[in-house]
Amino acid sequence: MQKICLMGGTFDPIHYGHLVVAEEVRQKFNLPKVLFIPAARPPHKTDQDITDATHRVNMVRLAVASNPYFAVSTLEVARQGLSYTIDTVRQIKQLYQTEKIYFITGADAVLQIINWKEAAQLLSMCTFIAATRPGYNLNNLQSSLASLPQDIIERILPLEVPALSISSSDIRQRVREGRSIKYLLPEAVEAYIFKNRLYTCHN
Ligand code: ATP
Ligand code: MG
Repeated sequence: MQKICLMGGTFDPIHYGHLVVAEEVRQKFNLPKVLFIPAARPPHKTDQDITDATHRVNMVRLAVASNPYFAVSTLEVARQGLSYTIDTVRQIKQLYQTEKIYFITGADAVLQIINWKEAAQLLSMCTFIAATRPGYNLNNLQSSLASLPQDIIERILPLEVPALSISSSDIRQRVREGRSIKYLLPEAVEAYIFKNRLYTCHN
């Protein structure tokens, strides 16, 4: 495969914000495949309770089933431990023998990228797509990456996507409070959450 696109996340749970971003990127860059990669344990969320990986993977599977370009990878879950993107990108490069790797992040995540493990190396291995997200300003990107060389900074491409002010944290809180989550995420995922009684107490 010549090009592959990765979308990392906790997906606790996956929602339309994730799906809209992935579909926009796929079409804009004419990508044959977008792989959603649920993290086993994100390094920046070690102080939070995260739902079992099996549930998160199942929900991503349900959410992407109707899109022939989308698939799920359990590579990070299988690796266990903290999920560092650089390790994932190295594994993907080996597995798919691909020439070009795209990696999707939302505006909040990309502003943190400088703190990721082996950030400069990671940026040299893939093209990052930074999708707009309500509440986060991509204009701060240049200053947050100021310590990196210009040619590396240029590997991050900002992309305007239809703004959806949806987050997994908000969905979890809504379930906890007994409020509706309808229209924020695919119906099959909503049904899965209720069937498995996810998010009803803490987390
Ligand atoms: P949480 O509130 O638990 O952090 P989240 O909604 O931010 O969940 P993540 O799994 O943390 O979802 O995000 C995975 C990736 O998707 C990140 O790069 C994040 O920036 C991006 N993303 C999530 N929601 C949106 C959205 N509504 N618009 C654009 N990008 C998003
Ligand atoms: Mg998040």
